[in-house]
Amino acid sequence: MIIAAFRRVVNQMPGGSSLPGGGESIHYDRALCYTLPVSYHIAIDLGGTQMRAGLFPAGSTHPERLERIPTHSPGEMPLTRLLDLIAAIMPGEAQVQAIGVASAGQLDPFTGTIFNALNVQGFTNLPLRQIIEDRFRIPAVIGNDANLAALGEWKYGAGQGFHNLIYMTISTGIGAGVIMDDHLLLGQRGLATELGHVTVDPNGPICPCGQYGHLEAMAAGPAISRWTAAQIEAGETSSLPAGQPLTAKAVAEAALAGDALAIRALERAGRLIGHALADYLHIFNPAAIVLGGGVTRSGKLILDPLRQALHEFTLSKDYLEGLSLLTAALGDEAGLTGALALARQIASEPAAR
Ligand SMILES: [Zn+2]
Repeated sequence: MIIAAFRRVVNQMPGGSSLPGGGESIHYDRALCYTLPVSYHIAIDLGGTQMRAGLFPAGSTHPERLERIPTHSPGEMPLTRLLDLIAAIMPGEAQVQAIGVASAGQLDPFTGTIFNALNVQGFTNLPLRQIIEDRFRIPAVIGNDANLAALGEWKYGAGQGFHNLIYMTISTGIGAGVIMDDHLLLGQRGLATELGHVTVDPNGPICPCGQYGHLEAMAAGPAISRWTAAQIEAGETSSLPAGQPLTAKAVAEAALAGDALAIRALERAGRLIGHALADYLHIFNPAAIVLGGGVTRSGKLILDPLRQALHEFTLSKDYLEGLSLLTAALGDEAGLTGALALARQIASEPAAR
């Protein structure tokens, strides 16, 4: 049994070592621990804005320490910052079984190479797994952040107990992961299940990926605010201001306050996502759909039209029989928790890597 006192330290590590610039450290004082855990796993969530590292004792999903630093800092490459972050969280006396990394961008989970993470400087054709293993002499494993969020929700979150599920997160982009027959779908090079990058309208707006009319370009947060601003520009009345950029959050707040145009904006996004999910039901036949991300926090305003479209566009009611539509349970922790799940899987069955 562990009784842990909790304290927060900014920019300072126990023992005097420092985190890379701008970092924040949360750790648990083990002075009151009756028994020390014998081993740990390290999980990393690496995004374009920040990177986080968690030190997880065996058998627990609660990190004993959690560090967070900005991904970019003047004069220092993100890779250097990542390696320093791992070194900073490494426990001195105990054994680390494996390091799991949930990374933004396109990557090959089989070789551990990042093809391209556009938002992370220097992360192009980067053999990240090899670099981490060479440095720390500990097995490492890399996964796409959306795929690992799906794994996290399946193993430890809203998707527990299901054998087949679709996870979709809708925020500034649309990310996804699919569990089929108790396995995370990866594809030949680990690039499968980009469910946000399916063409909804070939003549639609450009997607951040460079293609046109993808679901992400039509229904993610920036698309919701852009569509709303365009309607106001065209003369629609709204409580939202004209002639200035809007955020999806502002649209959601206006919708909650009863603004008719903002409500229509969320309905439109919900219907588009529901229509796409109806197609995914035909492809994957899941038992659950787990929805995460900031856009889903608008609740019924987006989920009701989504659910209605799901019913309207599904080719047979059999796909809806026993289907659970769930909201994600892990929030921003889904990627980190999925990286932990992957690290544990690799530590217990190295051949699976
Ligand atoms: Zn796209």
